[in-house]
Amino acid sequence: MTSKGSGSRRQVTDGRLFRMIPAVNDLLMNPEISGLLGTYPREMVVELLNLDLSRIREEIGQGGFDEESLLSRVKEIPSRLGLELDSRESPTLKPVINATGIIIFTNLGRAPISRKIAEDLLDTICSYNNLEYDLACGSRGHRDLHFESRITRVLNCEAASVCNNAAAALMIILNTLAHGRNVIISRGELVEIGGSFRIPEILEKSGAVLREVGTTNRTFLRDYEKAVDGETGLILKVHTGNYQITGFTNETGIPELAQLAASRGIPLVHDAGSGLLFPSDEECLAREPAIKESLDAGADIVCFSGDKLLGGPQSGIIVGRGEYVARIRKNPLMRTLRIDKVICSILDRTLLEYEMGREKESIPVKRFISLPEQEVRSRAEALAEGISNSKISVSISPGFSKSGGGSSPGGEIPTTLVKLDSEEFSAAAIERYLRSREIPIIARIEKDRVLIDLRTVFPEQDQVVARELNALGR
Ligand SMILES: *Cc1c(COP(=O)(O)O)cnc(C)c1O
Repeated sequence: MTSKGSGSRRQVTDGRLFRMIPAVNDLLMNPEISGLLGTYPREMVVELLNLDLSRIREEIGQGGFDEESLLSRVKEIPSRLGLELDSRESPTLKPVINATGIIIFTNLGRAPISRKIAEDLLDTICSYNNLEYDLACGSRGHRDLHFESRITRVLNCEAASVCNNAAAALMIILNTLAHGRNVIISRGELVEIGGSFRIPEILEKSGAVLREVGTTNRTFLRDYEKAVDGETGLILKVHTGNYQITGFTNETGIPELAQLAASRGIPLVHDAGSGLLFPSDEECLAREPAIKESLDAGADIVCFSGDKLLGGPQSGIIVGRGEYVARIRKNPLMRTLRIDKVICSILDRTLLEYEMGREKESIPVKRFISLPEQEVRSRAEALAEGISNSKISVSISPGFSKSGGGSSPGGEIPTTLVKLDSEEFSAAAIERYLRSREIPIIARIEKDRVLIDLRTVFPEQDQVVARELNALGR
């Protein structure tokens, strides 16, 4: 609170200061600003100038300026405008460096798309194309066909369809095959996957009726057998990717459930989630169900994400028996969940890499998972040697990367971590510094120390990390 006397003195000064604020029309004639009008819309320039002027007014009101400081602030108007316009122009979605070692990180965009695939599809997506046009007949085709022929060859299954994501895939499967009927599922599989994907809620929204069997830790074939009746629409098995029940447990496998389903003439649906096509010899993926195995064991329909372990675009892939896939494809919901030409094109090209057996070299997610620890270590050593900044000390030590993204709970991969210590900066300050770079670097903090895992960093980005670490505190 100011006294009455000083308050009125302040009002007098404020009046003089307010009169020093230039008018927008005068600013527009400043050569530095009028030059920007060739590049940016006039309304945008005027809007940002008004915004800046109101900030100045507010600061004067709070007593933040004397004449001298206000004069220099007014001089800054054109350069501040330039910066604001720059940031208006740059997209908010931009590349970051994932130095967390978590390979499938939903918050960081999940699977990065292979650069070669992205470059190769430009011609197709920047042009009209045959997305839904049968070139042989000159008539309407179906967008599913582009990827269906390939994935059915790769997995040796009857049919396939695709929609926006795996949550949508499960929704449309349940809606098509079990609307108004019972879906039998183990109590141990009524999970929440994250990002508000809860199996019971999806089930309810789909119009199916939940019929839970067994207990949280133990469910047997006989539990399913008892539950199947005339009201049963299908049996659902869900891969509990993000958690693990250990100890006194029993889970009924796909082969037994498939036999039961077949004998009662109902479909067995497997939500496999993570999208590992074939059994992997990587130890971290030992618990992941392979799509091919699930189909071979008799699952009628399997659905999974396109942007988890498959390493492709966001999509929900549905594979299995032709009669069921045909019904799912005809469901009007499919029209609301269909993928566009960009996704269609990336998906087909991702699957092509699998068909050619090149996925471990060309698909980033597959490459990162199978990157030998030795290679991460030599890059970590090179990074540590390249840092000459007295403000931080850099060391390396063994640690673990993670597959992430609801695949393989505890699925850890041995790696080499780069550890940052500093007398001057806290771990939180270093983490914030890295995150605020032009290409943000996202690192892990463990036990009050910043850790960098190069497994998920593209090798050409190592030098960016080194450069920013060398610039810390300078
Ligand atoms: C991740 C996951 C989903 C959801 O996949 P989205 O593609 O993110 O929709 C569904 N089910 C399981 C088992 C999952 O792991």
